[in-house]
Amino acid sequence: MIFSPLYSGSTGNASILTAGKTNILIDGGLAGKALIDALDAVGVEPSSLSAIVVTHEHIDHIKGVGIMSRKFDIPVYANEKTWRAMAPIVGGVAMKNIRTFVTGQNFYIGDVDLTPFPLSHDAAEPVGYVFFNKGKRIVYMTDTGRVTEALREKAAGADLIFLESNHDVDLLLSGPYPERLKRRILSDHGHLSNDAAGELLMKLYPTGVRRAILAHLSRENNTEDIALGSARAYLNASGVPEKDFFLAVAHYDRVTGIFEI
Ligand SMILES: [Zn+2]
Ligand SMILES: [Zn+2]
Repeated sequence: MIFSPLYSGSTGNASILTAGKTNILIDGGLAGKALIDALDAVGVEPSSLSAIVVTHEHIDHIKGVGIMSRKFDIPVYANEKTWRAMAPIVGGVAMKNIRTFVTGQNFYIGDVDLTPFPLSHDAAEPVGYVFFNKGKRIVYMTDTGRVTEALREKAAGADLIFLESNHDVDLLLSGPYPERLKRRILSDHGHLSNDAAGELLMKLYPTGVRRAILAHLSRENNTEDIALGSARAYLNASGVPEKDFFLAVAHYDRVTGIFEI
């Protein structure tokens, strides 16, 4: 599988996953033109997209979903509650392109086996995804306020985890956000902190996880260096040699790169 984070953060989220002839866009939270340009940058024709899969209805994840589906005749997959919540925002999507899945039940798009799993976030029915193809597994986990035992199990042994590392708790607390927003972000239905991400990686290492891309970083309450430094510190603290764990960070404003698993 080839995985390319295109954009990641509260100003827009989209990634592309390719396996053979199957091209799956994960979320489409940017204007149509920005999505088309980003796909172009990683060599994917928009008309070759097999599907768009949606994690949840927040605008930073669905802004360009309707446009892309209409313009290039692409099926859009989401669970029923997410469809209900996003339908008024994405506008008309052709009947044949409205695809519904049940959270927790796997389904196929071309060569890829997908399992959507529930997350803890303030949306109708937010999900992460496990993508499986030819014995390799990529886990996509952003926009969750906490990591449960069930989530740890989902991520155990993954060949790559795309993991939210949203904020540094001290920067958030001392920063300019209004109290209510700070509480929302820190809540169980908000976003994952650098510490929570680091702790999870530490626990995943013994299960065989060796690669992570930190994602959905806050522009106000985090930096790429702080997020990477924090994750590295957690791994170091548990005795993981630096060369044994590949860490990268997804950019909010440009294509991050192409990762082959
Ligand atoms: Zn988001
Ligand atoms: Zn969200």
